[in-house]
Amino acid sequence: MNGKTQLVGILGWPVTHSKSPTMHNAAFAHLNLDFCYVPLPVNPRHTLKHAVDGLVACGFRGANVTVPYKEQAAQLVDSISDEAKAIGAVNTLIFHHDGMVQGENTDAQGFLDHLFEEGVDVSQKTVLLIGAGGAARSIVYALSKAGASKILIINRTPSRALDFTRYPIVEVLDWSDSSFAYAAKQASLVVNATSLGLNDTDLMPWNTKIPFSNAQIVYDLIYSDTPLLQKAKSDGARAISGGGMLLWQGALAFELWTGKKAPIEIMRQELSNA
Ligand code: NAP
Repeated sequence: MNGKTQLVGILGWPVTHSKSPTMHNAAFAHLNLDFCYVPLPVNPRHTLKHAVDGLVACGFRGANVTVPYKEQAAQLVDSISDEAKAIGAVNTLIFHHDGMVQGENTDAQGFLDHLFEEGVDVSQKTVLLIGAGGAARSIVYALSKAGASKILIINRTPSRALDFTRYPIVEVLDWSDSSFAYAAKQASLVVNATSLGLNDTDLMPWNTKIPFSNAQIVYDLIYSDTPLLQKAKSDGARAISGGGMLLWQGALAFELWTGKKAPIEIMRQELSNA
């Protein structure tokens, strides 16, 4: 690293668990790019705006945005892509020399690229989405774009999910045993977009008495072998973790910052070693 090194990083709270620094720094090194990716924890007693203004002032090239700031980021950018605007969440910032901050969303396409890689076709399928935060916004947009026929949404705070009813294929259910049982019978794909599973002490975002079927696919956005994925496997369902989404959304962000094609296999290897 030297005075000319271009800096990027990840804004969020917490960011200690993030594998993005390792993945991106390996990709920069592989292509011999003078870039460095750093964790940028933003304690909620400060504001995201202060942090972003600081990065612009320090000449950063860009940043990723993660929990819990993606929706706030969409409100403070100077320009926003059509996709990020439709989703209402920004996960990638690009800082221009004139101080302009551009907002993009690579989560939705990253999720679709991962489903494609896994051979999962959601067209004309019913999907259960658990969660209604910033990431869930990208998933609803992506599923709708990919032709899902119905999206059932269960969120702890139902009012937060109401904004999703602007999609005609969305039905919001309350967080109850009967909703999980009803949705389990209909959904061929179940997606966890809550943060439950990030910590070892978290409850499962599912009623453990309801079995998954071997025709179901359970996708957890969290990129580890969560209790939800372990249950899916023990019930005979197919379990997919969000590591692939992390990879594909990161590749798109990498290309936005550097203008170079992302070295996917290097990034994948680094993620699996991390
Ligand atoms: P967020 O905006 O903070 O939303 C958090 C979600 O989790 C909300 O639906 C929230 O429900 C729910 N939740 C939190 N604690 C809960 C609890 N104790 N019980 C029930 N529900 C609870 O976060 P986000 O940006 O959407 O991220 C969500 C998850 O997706 C995170 O784990 C993140 O790491 C992961 N993610 C992964 C990728 C990837 O590339 N694999 C990309 C994006 C996000 P309420 O509305 O009721 O608070």
